[in-house]
Amino acid sequence: MSISPDKFATGPSKNVQVELCPHPGYFGGLCFRCGKPRDEEDVSGVAFGYIHKGLRLGTSEIDRLRGADLKNLLRERKLVLILDLDHTLINSTKLQDISSAENELGIRTAALKDDPDRSIFTLDSMQMLTKLRPFVHKFLKEASNMFEMYIYTMGDKAYAIEIAKLLDPTNVYFPSKVISNSDCTQRHQKGLDVILGAESVAVILDDTEYVWQKHKENLILMERYHYFASSCRQFGFGVRSLSESMQDERESDGALATVLDVLKRIHAIFFDTAAETDLSSQDVRQVIKAVRKEVLKGCKLVFSRVFPNNARPQEQMMWKMAEHLGAVCSTDVDSTVTHVVAVDLGTEKARWAVGNKKFLVHPRWIEAANFRWHRQPEEDFHVIPPKEKSRDKVNAVCGQKETSKDKEENTVAGEKETSNDRKEENDVADQKETSNDYDGNDVDGQKKDDAKENAVACRFVGTDRGDCFCYPLVQVQDVKFKSGPREISLLT
Ligand SMILES: [Zn+2]
Repeated sequence: MSISPDKFATGPSKNVQVELCPHPGYFGGLCFRCGKPRDEEDVSGVAFGYIHKGLRLGTSEIDRLRGADLKNLLRERKLVLILDLDHTLINSTKLQDISSAENELGIRTAALKDDPDRSIFTLDSMQMLTKLRPFVHKFLKEASNMFEMYIYTMGDKAYAIEIAKLLDPTNVYFPSKVISNSDCTQRHQKGLDVILGAESVAVILDDTEYVWQKHKENLILMERYHYFASSCRQFGFGVRSLSESMQDERESDGALATVLDVLKRIHAIFFDTAAETDLSSQDVRQVIKAVRKEVLKGCKLVFSRVFPNNARPQEQMMWKMAEHLGAVCSTDVDSTVTHVVAVDLGTEKARWAVGNKKFLVHPRWIEAANFRWHRQPEEDFHVIPPKEKSRDKVNAVCGQKETSKDKEENTVAGEKETSNDRKEENDVADQKETSNDYDGNDVDGQKKDDAKENAVACRFVGTDRGDCFCYPLVQVQDVKFKSGPREISLLT
């Protein structure tokens, strides 16, 4: 439901209007009940410029509207979903930042094509290209059955509106629900104060935790979608981007498909575990917490030289993340420990794990579980022997080490590497392959020529060594392209 002026408290008749004020809110500086101009010294209330230009609501009116909204939502079996744009639903680049490899592949031509299924667009007025994250249309369609949805971006208003048009051309998902930086009440922070929905039913999808300081419990952190080369560069990844590799996240099990499943679970638990009369006392934050706690339930972890020597392990991000996922973390090994988390095979605890047949995993195993909301197969997260890791760093191409010759070929024509290259690389490097990448006919671990490892956008996992593990969490697929290097058709 949308908030319209007739929903505001304007009072029953002219005679009592004056008695009813002080001032539930203002339109264009005038109280919409009594007509008095707003005292400029009065800084109470919140501006809702994204609903109506010049609209400002007082605290009690906001509370009243939230209460009414909550009742209606719950009656419709809906919650509130707040969606970040950049790196969550889309990735954008300025035209001037397009890399030569991207140009060579004809990425701008692809954006200009009049193809109804294309996922890459030119924003002419802003001199930008925008790539929609795979699965986004299906995601929005299904999510809209369970949630009242808002866009909430730190981008400016004109940009937010342009992107909303790409995502929602007929304006069914986000009517008067596009929030941009000018609506924020606190610099560099996003807040639920500008949402006319209750915090107890709000779920946030965003790739940046920092901006939601006050609402971490509502947040589902998204793995960043880096499609363009400039996006990788901006985040310090000296790697080939998905666009330059002619790859993309997979539709079937990419980030948006994964999080849609999580949202369905959260929605179901919220509505199915409470008696209908009791719904208003349900809190989606508790549901998110409980669902997250299932992910690593039953695991007992010991970290081995993953944290700085003088740091309290309990305060480290990975430790806390593991606990939020339901694992028990310990500083000492004993028979109840199930996993040792390490970056080095040579530590005492790592050797203990091997000797005692415990899982020995890289910290990325935790992070992957955090993003995928499922415990990941441990064998995909083995610890790399030191000398191979240094080779890893030298090459610094996330998940895709190749000879310069290969690289040239790939850059120009998207050609595949030979199986020998791939086999060697897979054996040496810490490359994660997913079930889809394996062919059932594989023998002796020989990978199929066209098996695609996960690639490209790496993530930094902080450790005492400051290593970048170049970890590709993204599950990728090849994008379909036609023969010539300038003919690229990005279908998602
Ligand atoms: Zn008034």
